Amino acid sequence: MKYFLSTELRNKFSILLQKKMLLAFDLDGTLSPLVSDPLAARISDDTYRLLCELNNLNRQSRLAHTGHRLAIITGRSISDTRRIINDRSILIIGNHGLESPFFNQEIKARWKKRCREIKKKLQENLSLEDCFLEDKKYSLSIHFTNKKRVRAKLNLLGKVQREYLSLIQGLLSKEETVVLGKNVINILPAEGVTKGLVVTKLIAKYRLSGALFVGDDCTDETVFRLRNKNIIKIRVGRSLSSSANYYLRSQKEINRLLKFLSSVNL
Ligand SMILES: [Mg+2]
Repeated sequence: MKYFLSTELRNKFSILLQKKMLLAFDLDGTLSPLVSDPLAARISDDTYRLLCELNNLNRQSRLAHTGHRLAIITGRSISDTRRIINDRSILIIGNHGLESPFFNQEIKARWKKRCREIKKKLQENLSLEDCFLEDKKYSLSIHFTNKKRVRAKLNLLGKVQREYLSLIQGLLSKEETVVLGKNVINILPAEGVTKGLVVTKLIAKYRLSGALFVGDDCTDETVFRLRNKNIIKIRVGRSLSSSANYYLRSQKEINRLLKFLSSVNL
């Protein structure tokens, strides 16, 4: 794993980024700082301004058929994400990819119904006092609260998560799967819905040369594991277990990355 913002790498990628690419970003922990309450997540004014500037640059050059495509690919629902990113010209893919042009209304309606059934089961069978069950219409997330986050420092979160995990798995059918994130358990369709799949489909749909993707969590690893050499995979925070090739030192460096991407767009 190499540090992406080194001068040497920035020079190397300035050339690669002359091609028409997908510039895709996860939201929580990537564009916005990670917070324990998902409703409290905010993007800083500076990051939002830089993101909009980059998107506008891309849109202008796209008229000349040379521009990149910018997208946010998040586990949040699109309507929830619009609360944080309200620039309508920015493409948002929600629910880990399920809310995208690649899944039709019939599939979404089936999932919406299934999520309601699972939510009822969870409410009946789990003690959700220390957790927050987030209904994202097409998927569900169980967030651990601050109390559990403190326990994580004592290495107890693994135990707590395992307990919840086995309880949840007992309530699900083969059509659903759980994906662990940072202090969150996501319940998703078992097959075919990953950020990795969406990145591949976006590259094909817009006939792009490749992608630059930035993320920080387990669900982003589905992009980092793609075997396409034309995808620049950047993780927020260095990690030996990640399949990403590059890293930013912390979420605070996202502004430097956005500035760099705008500079190579000019
Ligand atoms: Mg994230």
